[in-house]
Amino acid sequence: MIPPFTARSYDFAEWIPARNYIGGEWQDSATGNWMPIENPRHGKAMSKVCLSDARDVAAAVDACKAAQKGWALVPLKERAQVMFRLKQLMERDLEELAWLVSHENGKVIEEARASVMKGIECVEFGASLPNAKAGEQMDVSRGVNCSETHEPLGVVAGITPFNFPIMVPLWMLPQALVGGNAFILKPSEQVPLGAIKLAQLLEEAGLPRGVFAIVNGAADAVNAICDHEDIKAVGFVGSTKIARHVYARASASGKQALCLGGAKNHLMVVPDADVKLTAENVVASFTGCSGQRCMAASVLLAIGDVQPIIDRIAESAGKLQVGKDLGPIINKASEERILGFINDAEARGAKILLDGRQKRGDDGGYWVGPTIIDGATTAIPAAKDEIFGPVLTIVRVKNLDDAIAIENANPYGNAACVYTTSGAVADYVTERVEAGMVGVNIGVPVPREPFGFGGWNHSKFGHGNITGMDGFRFWTRPRKITVKWALQKDQNWMN
Ligand code: NAD
Repeated sequence: MIPPFTARSYDFAEWIPARNYIGGEWQDSATGNWMPIENPRHGKAMSKVCLSDARDVAAAVDACKAAQKGWALVPLKERAQVMFRLKQLMERDLEELAWLVSHENGKVIEEARASVMKGIECVEFGASLPNAKAGEQMDVSRGVNCSETHEPLGVVAGITPFNFPIMVPLWMLPQALVGGNAFILKPSEQVPLGAIKLAQLLEEAGLPRGVFAIVNGAADAVNAICDHEDIKAVGFVGSTKIARHVYARASASGKQALCLGGAKNHLMVVPDADVKLTAENVVASFTGCSGQRCMAASVLLAIGDVQPIIDRIAESAGKLQVGKDLGPIINKASEERILGFINDAEARGAKILLDGRQKRGDDGGYWVGPTIIDGATTAIPAAKDEIFGPVLTIVRVKNLDDAIAIENANPYGNAACVYTTSGAVADYVTERVEAGMVGVNIGVPVPREPFGFGGWNHSKFGHGNITGMDGFRFWTRPRKITVKWALQKDQNWMN
């Protein structure tokens, strides 16, 4: 029995340990090892998570294989009904889910709520799959019909990062489950609690026991998933270093893999941009979720004289209060990494236009306030590397082509954005930037369903998007069926 998470404020609250969920049963890992789960706002453990190895992965695969046989025989329309019910249950429990996300990840409650709602949108897409699937058949010649079905792969797995404990697993689960697979989730060991609620709600929504499993842990569990021959596909979301590792290791054992990595998103601001809209949007982009988003603004390429816009950005970011408008940083090591980028930029001669280094919340924990580094060169780490904190680095450039050249020279390709009131400028940038997701006057250009989410270059290894129809294609395999029932009287070479 999973007790409800009852906290409805930021006050410190403990919750149950994150155990493995295999064959519909909660169990400890074979290793007997545990790790604390810290509430980053308070900097103290609210629970603990078990650390699994290959033995736990093997047990989950065995249970999933047994359960998947029956699940694959359930018609697609019926499988999708589980997503209808999951959507309703998540809406019913929205506050509980949001507060749980806020406590384990640190997001302020409005952001936590929004992340759960985005997860619900992904579930809604899963519920719509029967409609998208209708009618994929054609009479290809007289008396001959071709159709295509999407068959389950079997047992598949998803490995997720710390920054969206409920939303990112839901980028994968709906398509994979409606596709008839059994799904093993390996959540981030830093935020494994949201997955417990997902398991509980999937059970309540009528998903047969064993079709969904959770294996908790870190590198050992991930590597065992990559190596297990009976796991047929792996979806991964996390840093570029680990995305590359998982892509190579999972591919080596014959799996299909789609691995989303890190980012360094560039925003281009031209002098004709709307001052208010641009300033508000840039601030929301680089401070939202304390900058711990793969879609967050990281570098602002200031083209020509856009000083009034920069002044406005600094003014409104300076008014944000840590603890209330901005949540904490996930852990001590991340806090130190972010401060290191700011200190290094200052030491190299950049100006700290807005300094968040001394900002702290009231309850302990790990914090960095909104920070703006101005006058950076493209050579300094703050302008090149992923910071993953509420830090905006401004690089001043002469013209749009110089800005596009800087954007395109960075190895990542998740998101890029242009702020302008000119359609021609918007088109010029959109057609030239090396980014899978482009925003025009939108600093977090996350495609809403049914448009798929996925970057380019070092922000993604593998083909296609992780959400939308690409996700369904990734988690299934197409079968083409060609049928003829009678000899044709009017035969020609095509028969
Ligand atoms: P991470 O790469 O450290 O961890 C992601 C997953 O990999 C976790 O489940 C973790 O247990 C596992 N892992 C960590 N080290 C491992 C190792 N040595 N071997 C095998 N597995 C390992 O990422 P994170 O810190 O949890 O999340 C932040 C990163 O995720 C940022 O780089 C961010 O840009 C990225 N991210 C990308 C997207 C996207 O859509 N492209 C979305 C969200 C987050």
